[in-house]
Amino acid sequence: MKELLEKILEENRHWTKKGKVATYIPALAKADPKILGITVIDIDGKAVTVGDCDTKFTLQSISKPLALMLALMDKGTDEVFSKVGMEPTGDPFNSIIKLETLRTGKPLNPMINAGAIATTALIEGQSGGEKIERLLEFVRLLAGNKDIRVNEEVYRSEQETGDRNRAMAYFMKDLGVLEADVDQILEVYFRQCAIEVTCSDIAHMARCLANKGNIAGKQIIPHEIVRLTNTFMVTCGMYNASGEFAIKVGIPAKSGVSGGIMALVPGKMGIGIIGPALNKIGNSIAGVHMLEDLSRALDLSIF
Ligand code: GLN
Repeated sequence: MKELLEKILEENRHWTKKGKVATYIPALAKADPKILGITVIDIDGKAVTVGDCDTKFTLQSISKPLALMLALMDKGTDEVFSKVGMEPTGDPFNSIIKLETLRTGKPLNPMINAGAIATTALIEGQSGGEKIERLLEFVRLLAGNKDIRVNEEVYRSEQETGDRNRAMAYFMKDLGVLEADVDQILEVYFRQCAIEVTCSDIAHMARCLANKGNIAGKQIIPHEIVRLTNTFMVTCGMYNASGEFAIKVGIPAKSGVSGGIMALVPGKMGIGIIGPALNKIGNSIAGVHMLEDLSRALDLSIF
């Protein structure tokens, strides 16, 4: 496995020059576009790591499936899906247009920003601080890493500039999709996006999802919630490139604008990738190509 990953990483390194790091959150603009790393953890827990895997990065949209699972465990499917739908959008991740044209204002799915903000609002806790602490504990448990924290600089940077997310949240509040205080919901959402991890952390989380929610014999997440979340990752996880990704790679995956991708092969492995140079849609450009090659080499597509 190590040799295969080294070969795939070297063959795809050139893509990092063709992508651009995200700049709309100013703190993310500091990322080095040349960074590239991958960790694969098989179902028995054996990890193989290649490239820049010590690099820390923030979860950004990779936090969306995690917040979804916690909200589903807190509130159940009926309540969660009364506030957010189950359909792909075909629009960019930060699109606002369908919120108005659909009239209900109910976001189409929990993997786009509007849907993730509505999902985060459903996480239980007396205060914003308690909600983010519960999500952090959940992430630490899935990753098997007690030291995972929020990157305060990235959090502040998005808090200061995230006016499009703020606009969506106020709009959803007006329509009754959001019921709690908008500032508090956004504080939790911006903090969840700024949770700092490594490739190995997200590969561990993905391995739990590949293993039907089980870690070392303990059922951490009900299997039904894992099934639902993996399905969302297949249909919506790579934004408006999810269809092409399903054809070319064919596994559940979720990307974030920091350049991370969390992917998994059910029953087989968890995969974590970092490559901050992004393609036009906002997915790690070299990361997507590496997953294509890995899927082809090991025949990983679930379809
Ligand atoms: N924090 C980012 C935002 O809300 C997450 C988006 C992403 O990773 N695509 O815009």
